Amino acid sequence: MADATDPILPGGTLGILGGGQLGSMFAAAAKRMGYRVEAISDVADCPAAIHCDRLRVGSFSDEALLARFAADCDAVTFEFENIPAEAGRALAGRVPVRPDPEVLFTTQDRAREKTFLTRHGFACAPYRIVGSQDELRRAVAEIGLPAVLKTAAFGYDGKGQRKLLATVDVDAAWEALGAGPHGPRQLVLEGFVDFDCEISVVAARGVDGSLASFPPSRNAHANHILDVSSVPAGLPQRVLDDAVAMAGRILEALGVVGVACVEFFVTKDGRVLVNEIAPRTHNSGHLTIEACETSQFEQQVRAVCGLPLGSTRLRSPAAMANLLGDCWTHADDGSCRDPDWAAALAVPGVWLHLYGKREARPGRKMGHLTALAPTVEEAIEKVVRARRLACRG
Ligand code: AMP
Repeated sequence: MADATDPILPGGTLGILGGGQLGSMFAAAAKRMGYRVEAISDVADCPAAIHCDRLRVGSFSDEALLARFAADCDAVTFEFENIPAEAGRALAGRVPVRPDPEVLFTTQDRAREKTFLTRHGFACAPYRIVGSQDELRRAVAEIGLPAVLKTAAFGYDGKGQRKLLATVDVDAAWEALGAGPHGPRQLVLEGFVDFDCEISVVAARGVDGSLASFPPSRNAHANHILDVSSVPAGLPQRVLDDAVAMAGRILEALGVVGVACVEFFVTKDGRVLVNEIAPRTHNSGHLTIEACETSQFEQQVRAVCGLPLGSTRLRSPAAMANLLGDCWTHADDGSCRDPDWAAALAVPGVWLHLYGKREARPGRKMGHLTALAPTVEEAIEKVVRARRLACRG
C-alpha cells in the first residue's frame, strides 16, 4: 500500500462501493480527471455502469470479490451509507478506504449517529433510543408529542419513519416499525422540530485535515424526499456561518477524509439543529456541478486522492429539482412514456441529468434538473417551470 500521505495521481484506479447515481457522478468526475474507476454493485444494470472502466457485480460480503477489487484499486470510497461497514473493514487493511469504514459504521445507524452527536455536544432534536414497546411509551411520555419515530438502520428518504401525533398512534407505530419479523428492531424517537426551514452543508476534509465547505443549500422536501435545493439559502449570515462551522467540526470529530453532508433544521429562533449526517456526496449538492468552481464529485475525488481541495466558490445562484419516477407516465398497455425533455430544455439556463435507471417507479430518483439565474428566486422559478413542462403538469 502506498504511503497514506502520497497523493494518488491521475492514471491511478479509484474504487467505489455501490453503483447508484452518486457513484456514477463520482466516476464521471474521476474519469474526466484521468483516473480509472471500478465499482462493486449488487446489480449489473446500475447507473455507475455507464462511467466505470470495470463493474464487478456481486455481494458486498463476498471476501474473494473484495480482495480482487482491493488489488486493483489505489483507494476506495463508498457512494451510499447502506453499504455494510464490514465490506469497508475487509478492504481497509489492503487499500486506503476514505472515509474510514468507522465513519460509515457511525453514520449508517441513527442510534449510533445520535449518540455521536450528543457525545460531542452537537445540537440535535431531543431523542430517545428505544428497543421495545414499553420503552417507546416511556420515551413518548418524556419527549412529548408530536414526535417522529424512525428505524435506526436502513432508513433514507423518509423510509422507515412515522410521525406520531397522539398517544393512540404509539402502539400502531411500534407494530409497523419496531416489531420486526426477526425480533424487535431498534428505533429512534425524535421530538418533532417545528422548523423554519431545512438546510444542508456539503463539506470536504482532505488527508491533511484541510476543510472546504460548499455554500449551504436550502432544501424543500415533498413526501419526505428532497424536492428542490437552492443556493444561496437566503438566511442571515450568522445562521449560515453556524451551520458551516458545525459541519466542519462534525467532519473533524468523525475523522472524515472525503466528502460528507450535514443536514440541519433551522429553528424559528435561528438555531441550527443537526438532522442527519451522510458520509458521502449528497443530492442537495448536485447543483455544485454547474454552480460552483469545483463540483462535490470532483471534490470527493480530490479528497479521496489526497490532492488539494478545490475552490467551493459559488459562480451563480442556482436551484436543483429532482425528477422522480412519478414524472414518467404509464399507459394501460404497460408502456411507459418519458417526460417531455425538449420542453424542459427549451428553458434557457437549465441542465438535465438522467441517471440511466431503466424502471421509473414512484418516488425513485431518476435524475435532476439544475438552473442558474441572476437571483435564487429566478433559479427556483426556472427549474420548477422546466420540470413542470417536462412532466406535463
Ligand atoms: P430524514 O430521513 O431523517 O432526513 O427525514 C426526512 C424528512 O422528514 C426531513 O428532511 C424532514 O423534512 C422530516 N423530518 C424528519 N425528522 C423530523 C423531525 N424530528 N422534526 C420535523 N421534521 C422531521
